[in-house]
Amino acid sequence: MRAFAYRRTTQIHEALSLVAQHDGARFLAGGTNLVDLMKAGVESPTRLVDVRSLALGDIGEAPDGGLVLGATATNSAVAADARVRLRYPALSQAILAGASGQLRNMATVGGNLLQRTRCAYFADPSEACNKRAPGSGCSAIDGAHHNHAILDWTQHCVATHPSDMAVPLTAFDAVVRYETLDGAGEIPLAEFYRPVGDRPDRETALPDGALITSVVLPPAAVAGRSRYRKVRERASYAFATVSVAAALDVRHGLVRDVRLALGGVASRPWRARLVESALRGGPATAERISAAAEREVAAARPLRGNAYKVTLARNLIEAVLTELAAEPAEEGNA
Ligand code: SF4
Repeated sequence: MRAFAYRRTTQIHEALSLVAQHDGARFLAGGTNLVDLMKAGVESPTRLVDVRSLALGDIGEAPDGGLVLGATATNSAVAADARVRLRYPALSQAILAGASGQLRNMATVGGNLLQRTRCAYFADPSEACNKRAPGSGCSAIDGAHHNHAILDWTQHCVATHPSDMAVPLTAFDAVVRYETLDGAGEIPLAEFYRPVGDRPDRETALPDGALITSVVLPPAAVAGRSRYRKVRERASYAFATVSVAAALDVRHGLVRDVRLALGGVASRPWRARLVESALRGGPATAERISAAAEREVAAARPLRGNAYKVTLARNLIEAVLTELAAEPAEEGNA
């Protein structure tokens, strides 16, 4: 690991200035991904600005009835929050399906969104990787890619986004708020991750030097009837092969609202809007759910080694939505 400077601050403006003043400076929160990448020689920040002492760790009510997750709230705190568990259960389930207890105690909301792909070639500086070294090529396309993308990839990169937490946040239309030295801004999570294109190293729409301050969950009645299901190669402490965050609200036999997002299939959490539009307003029958799932995966372009993910994604969508549709409606909603 290369030598680096370290600073800790309690002021957002000072944190922004400390990063802006120093080429190669980075914010440090839980460090559960960044420090690993520093040890592997993938990241070499010149200065780390520790943001864990900023007053950004609260989870609170939004004026419109949603929730505000502070950027440095730990994954454990969010998963355990009674309001999250009641109003956005898929979010709590997704976080608990990720990493280990020790990592969740360190990892933060902002850091979770900014974690890098776990493509093995990305983590190995001896391999060609356009995401780590733009223009060097992509070792995964003709290499070991059984756990790589089936949707929205390009010849420049076929990696997936590793976050579980970001999948239900995408389904629930969360918004990322940030601060820069020029002022505050916000980006819907649906626009936060950039399409791969020809620059897979440019992963988010955050302005240079911006610090994530919170993630806002809008109020959504349907989110209270949600579920996260993750398929992985081990029972725990493994990234998703495919995951689904789904929410379904059926009233008087008709789908009043439905949200669905997939993890493990693309460079960003994949909002399954084809499923949502196919189901909304009609009966939640097994036939319609099956047809909707088929429609979503029809656009998949599997690589040589990961066609199984297309079947897996379709079956997972079907299974989770069928389970939600079979649950009794809330009192007065049948
Ligand atoms: Fe790098 Fe992306 Fe190719 Fe993996 S898939 S080697 S991250 S360019």
